[in-house]
Amino acid sequence: MQKRENYRTGDQGLVRQINLALMMHILRTRAPISRAMLSTQTGLNKATVSDLVNELIKNEFVRELGITSSGTGRPATQLMLNPGAGFLIGCEIGVDFIEVMVTDFAPEVVWQVKAEISPEMGQSAILERLLGLLRKGIEKGQPAGKSLMGIAVGVPGMVDHSSGTVRFAPNLKWRDVPLRQILEQANFGAPVFVDNEANMAALGEYYFGIAQNYNEVLYLSANIGLGGGLLRDGKLCRGANGVAAEFGHMTMNPNGEFCNCGNRGCWETQVSQTALFRYIGEVLQAGASSPLAEFFSAGQFTRLTVHQVVDAAQAGDLVAIQALQQVGHYLGIGIASLLNALNPELVVLGGILSAASEFLLPAVADEIQKRALRWNREAVQIMPAAHGSDACAKGGIATIYQSVLTYSNKISLWAA
Ligand SMILES: [Zn+2]
Repeated sequence: MQKRENYRTGDQGLVRQINLALMMHILRTRAPISRAMLSTQTGLNKATVSDLVNELIKNEFVRELGITSSGTGRPATQLMLNPGAGFLIGCEIGVDFIEVMVTDFAPEVVWQVKAEISPEMGQSAILERLLGLLRKGIEKGQPAGKSLMGIAVGVPGMVDHSSGTVRFAPNLKWRDVPLRQILEQANFGAPVFVDNEANMAALGEYYFGIAQNYNEVLYLSANIGLGGGLLRDGKLCRGANGVAAEFGHMTMNPNGEFCNCGNRGCWETQVSQTALFRYIGEVLQAGASSPLAEFFSAGQFTRLTVHQVVDAAQAGDLVAIQALQQVGHYLGIGIASLLNALNPELVVLGGILSAASEFLLPAVADEIQKRALRWNREAVQIMPAAHGSDACAKGGIATIYQSVLTYSNKISLWAA
């Protein structure tokens, strides 16, 4: 947690948010813990820790566990997060699934579901499905916490962050869907947050996953398409009107495959589930033999999953291995350029990139070695997401956490 303490401190609101996030992180990962140890581990002085803890206790976010003696020094009251302070719901609308995760305030997962959908169902059927799953989630969450603290939904598209409107989700074929308004009209009685799924997942990895000790983070996640999120100085980089980090739509081959965004040769036409299956299909059509052929007929795959491709690769199937290496090759070419442009300290691979990382990373490392500038290359680590395909839902939980700590009227810390 050292790096977060070096934050710019001009903005008291920001200071408060960072200090609270830091305390919550220590409480979440190292509780039960005393005030004195919190002070040592956060680097905050004892008076500040004491003030923050008192406020957190007053708001029932933290509870005292009683006094224990560590053997040396004075016996001290131990603290932990109060799991029953409330429950939180993080969701992801994918192109072919909806995931809903319900956690208590600790935040331990108390219920989780992944339901299949398809864009052909149509927008209103997908939204009905989401609302039904949210109602179920609330029912499952109620025993875990006294009230619903928020609902956060990630979508595979460009989101107007201020209004929560999905401007364009190419793979779902949605345009201008006022998702936050729709969810607010369902009267769940809690704030609703809508964001791009990769932004949300980046935040999830920053709060709860592999990116916890990094401030310059590039998050890339592939499923049907390829999404990106960028954390600079620990904050999501949203650009002029909130749709930055759409790395999947960088043109990598001007004459390449058509992309659902209307362009051709976008990076996601080379690095995505769609691309992976296309590479496999091309080799099968050329006559290669593979256990994956049973899913392939009339030039199309039915019921094939990326996990089955990874399983086949692990079993030594050359078609699967080569197709994954092909994805890794194009992934590496794009990452090398992004390293030169952005100089991140960590690249996190999520979605199917995390599931297949053992086959992708060697090819990625190879391209980076060849193409990235030495100083950018030496500064970076590349790792699979800690929460894999749950990163976005977990990021929804992080989004709600952040809002509780940042904007809640209930906590008026650091008023100075
Ligand atoms: Zn595109």
